[in-house]
Amino acid sequence: MTPNAGGAEYLLRLDDLCPTMDREPWMRVLDMVRRYKLRPILGVIPENFDPEFRACQVDPEFWGRMRALQAEGATIGLHGYQHLCHARGWGLVPLHRETEFAGAPLEHQREWIRRGLEILRGHGLEPRIWVAPRHGTDRNTLRALRECGLMIVSDGFARRPYRAHGVCWIPQQLWSPVEKQQGLWTICVHPATADAGALDRLEMFVASRRDRFTSVERVMAEWPMGRRTYRDRLFAWRRLARHHLSRWHRLREA
Ligand SMILES: [Zn+2]
Repeated sequence: MTPNAGGAEYLLRLDDLCPTMDREPWMRVLDMVRRYKLRPILGVIPENFDPEFRACQVDPEFWGRMRALQAEGATIGLHGYQHLCHARGWGLVPLHRETEFAGAPLEHQREWIRRGLEILRGHGLEPRIWVAPRHGTDRNTLRALRECGLMIVSDGFARRPYRAHGVCWIPQQLWSPVEKQQGLWTICVHPATADAGALDRLEMFVASRRDRFTSVERVMAEWPMGRRTYRDRLFAWRRLARHHLSRWHRLREA
């Protein structure tokens, strides 16, 4: 018996958060989180070097806002280290070839995770979950995470959380809201680059299903954390195949 016998549950994940991201869409997302009392995963970049998220002057209120959201029940996610995707190597969720972590040597990954945690803790945050830039998590990443005591990963195609490689995986399968009948679904949103139409659709979805949105804390307390079954693996491969097929079609049409 899963905790969502009455229907699907959703988790909101906000990626690419850093003090120099574009503030206009972010303020709208922040307002939504507060108004609907959501407890999202906050994917914070510890020391951003990605030019895409250097759109504004440093927001002096950024770290204070992260601390306030954490106090209100949001979960801080370690979103890589500098968000520079120079490594090449398919991770365990093979969606991208170039990532920040997957494919990089263990000693580098270990050092980046250690420094990332140190930076976020220095701002009064307690990261509890790993949010890899571009899904780039390989076996070395997991080893470094386990050594640092970060034992939850937000990623993977599945309909429920599971244990694998010595850590807990809370699946992330959606990039925009989709109505589901059962299971746990993480919707990943990029507040720094989201357009107004996407945020309108998200807000309509959240407004009508507020009670179906959960938090990492509740997921860890309420969902059974077993191993993946054969059916779970089949589901993951289907999703992955569909993802790559639609990307291939888009490239062909471009
Ligand atoms: Zn990112």
